[in-house]
Amino acid sequence: MMRSGFKAEVWRCLAVVAACALIGLFCGRTAVGIALGCAGYLLWLFTRIYQLEKWINLTRRNGTPQQDLPGLWADVSYDIQRLINRHDKEKARLQGIVQRVQEMTAALTDAVILVDRKGNMEWWNQAAERLFGFRKVDAGHKLTNVIRHPNFVQYFEQKIYASPLQISLWQTDQHLEFQIHTYGEGARVIIARDITRLIKLEQIRKDFVANVSHELRTPLTVIRGYLETLAESPQLPVAWQKIVQQMEQQTQRITLLSNDLITLAKLETDQKEAPKAIAVAPLIDSIMADAKAVSGGHHELRSQGDEDLALLGSERELRSAISNLVVNAINYSPNGGLIEVIYGRDKDGAAITVRDQGIGIDPKHIPRLTERFYRVDPSRSVASGGTGLGLAIVKHVLLRHNAELVITSKLGKGSEFSCRFPASTVTYTPFSDA
Ligand code: ADP
Repeated sequence: MMRSGFKAEVWRCLAVVAACALIGLFCGRTAVGIALGCAGYLLWLFTRIYQLEKWINLTRRNGTPQQDLPGLWADVSYDIQRLINRHDKEKARLQGIVQRVQEMTAALTDAVILVDRKGNMEWWNQAAERLFGFRKVDAGHKLTNVIRHPNFVQYFEQKIYASPLQISLWQTDQHLEFQIHTYGEGARVIIARDITRLIKLEQIRKDFVANVSHELRTPLTVIRGYLETLAESPQLPVAWQKIVQQMEQQTQRITLLSNDLITLAKLETDQKEAPKAIAVAPLIDSIMADAKAVSGGHHELRSQGDEDLALLGSERELRSAISNLVVNAINYSPNGGLIEVIYGRDKDGAAITVRDQGIGIDPKHIPRLTERFYRVDPSRSVASGGTGLGLAIVKHVLLRHNAELVITSKLGKGSEFSCRFPASTVTYTPFSDA
């Protein structure tokens, strides 16, 4: 629908042109009259446009409309005013959001840093200033020029942020955790946390467990010694024989448990030994010889693989991991079951796989098997002499060798525990020609 101001303007234009045309007609110059009418109206139009332009400028400067314009120009100025009001409201709303986000990020104890797709710093919160000492002049600079820790630079550049990065700063005895997320077109948000307290608490926990287990060793040795003597004593009344035997078994369990706890604590806290080339074939042969004793001849034990395969790492740790897997295979296989250890190179590096045809594991348990004290069937595990820490030890050993444990199993059919070593850990025995 045509608005009244616009209609009036059309009529005004027609009236002016018609009047001039009439005057022109009386003077015998109709065309000149129309031309003059159009020119006059155009002049009047320019004056109004000039006024409107002045009005917009004044309104923009002062925030409120300055004067009322006539006719069509009142409509136009009204529309413009409405647009300005809407824009102001939107601006105020967005400013409110920005303000709230700034207040929220300022209240965060985690450092938040935004970088553009080139890795230049765009914005950061106060926690980032406190943690890294950023200054205003750092804006626009590459983040990796300001946080130069080599591990951080590598993590930041490689652009794979599936898991967080932990860094220890020995100068300040601080531990930091970085998590990076990408957003928009390649921009990144970096969240950094000071996890020094957490790491220290974790250390206290590990030391405590290791110390308790260590302190238990001497009293346990004494108790076991006395129990052995008692058990062998001919004066022991028959009624006591079963009790002493059970006491011996339980002390044996506590000893195994404390040994496993000490092993785990060492794996978690001890510095890695300088890696040595460990020939895999003789290591497996010796583990299989021990396993025969554990099985007591009740299982068929086989091993085969690359004779010249060697791995860089710690022989003591690898022996402990593979032994745990083989002993588990024995414990969870019925008599007569076949247990195989297969080792060799593959396209990713190398693998040592322990395969059995035992009771198998329901797939729903597999993701949790390497947790401490996680057991599929607690009564069976205890009966087999398991401590519930075997696979946790395997996982830690493999972590220290940059390797991973892949478990596949079918309930009632058997299981396969495969230790996958990266190519960087794989080497040849000193005696091979390769
Ligand atoms: P445990 O000392 O109880 O054997 P582990 O950490 O070695 O503890 O193993 C955790 C659990 O995983 C075991 O309790 C058992 O239920 C299951 N498991 C481990 N190895 C096997 C296997 N070869 N076959 C079937 N189940 C297994």
